[in-house]
Amino acid sequence: MRYETPTTTKEAATLLYKEKGQAHILAGGTDLLVRMKMGMTEPTLVVDIKHIPAMQAITKSAAGFKIGATVCGAAMTEHAALGKAWPGLVEAANLIGSDQIQGRCTMVGNLCNGSPAADSVPAMIAAGAKAIVVGKDKRRTVAVDKIVTGPGKTSLAKGEVIEAITLPARLPRSGDAYLRFTPRTEMDIAVVSAAVNLTLERGVVKTARVVLGAVAPTAVIVAKAAKAIIGTKLDDEALEKLTAACAAACNPIDDKRGTIEYRTKVAGVLAKRAAKIAYQRAGGTL
Ligand SMILES: Cc1cc2nc3c(=O)[nH]c(=O)nc-3n(C[C@H](O)[C@H](O)[C@H](O)COP(=O)(O)OP(=O)(O)OC[C@H]3O[C@@H](n4cnc5c(N)ncnc54)[C@H](O)[C@@H]3O)c2cc1C
Repeated sequence: MRYETPTTTKEAATLLYKEKGQAHILAGGTDLLVRMKMGMTEPTLVVDIKHIPAMQAITKSAAGFKIGATVCGAAMTEHAALGKAWPGLVEAANLIGSDQIQGRCTMVGNLCNGSPAADSVPAMIAAGAKAIVVGKDKRRTVAVDKIVTGPGKTSLAKGEVIEAITLPARLPRSGDAYLRFTPRTEMDIAVVSAAVNLTLERGVVKTARVVLGAVAPTAVIVAKAAKAIIGTKLDDEALEKLTAACAAACNPIDDKRGTIEYRTKVAGVLAKRAAKIAYQRAGGTL
């Protein structure tokens, strides 16, 4: 196995593109190294992207935030401005693993691993996050919800690397929230999760995005749930409609961690609670 440490994203993309065997990117390694140790994958090339300066920082501009692909969960939690603007997203990233995992894990690794239960993914999609994708010859910007195509599968072409995640400029009176259900309080993956991001105008929901995790092969954007709360002050009727829309959007698996019936019910409950938290964070009073 070859191990390479490129210093530019283009160099990383070229190395990955040219490899004839199985190539993998190493960010925090908290998924990849586990898979390698378990013999689930045997790469012929590992490209460690942690030496690429363009991927290492969180920056803020008029356009919003840019979070480099190698920024770990702990660094996101320590970034005060990011946490103020996007508390739900930061909380979602912070739920990944333990302190030790937080010092390594990245949101992009969480995304590209392709787990339906990945914690940061529903929150990124609710935020309208985009991925800056760099290939050997060109760059493109893709909505995060278009990256994962199924469990363990992404839409990235051979050699393509995500350099950073961008978050749009935050409008005043906006709030987001992410909640997950796990049987244990720590070190477990979501049985169901929900993210809500919304903006208010005079206490009324003007725009909203509702996204569910772990209830289908990929995260699910529930447009009908968002529609149910837009134009309301999150009254009981609106929340009931949101809950029903979330339940209707679920297509979960049935396993020992949660039945289809259970996951479907809990999805609506979590979305409702997340909507209330996001609403209050945006300055709304319930
Ligand atoms: C003990 C433990 C607890 C965990 N708990 C949770 C949890 O609670 N919630 C949760 O969601 N996950 C959890 N995980 C899974 C894992 O920690 C996360 O998915 C993490 O975010 C992966 O990030 P990473 O940087 O370590 O990815 P890596 O392992 O480095 O990479 C993961 C995959 O993404 C690809 N990749 C990485 N970066 C890029 C890039 N820039 N462009 C394109 N492809 C890329 C890699 O090639 C690889 O296929 C846990 C793992 C462990 C070991």
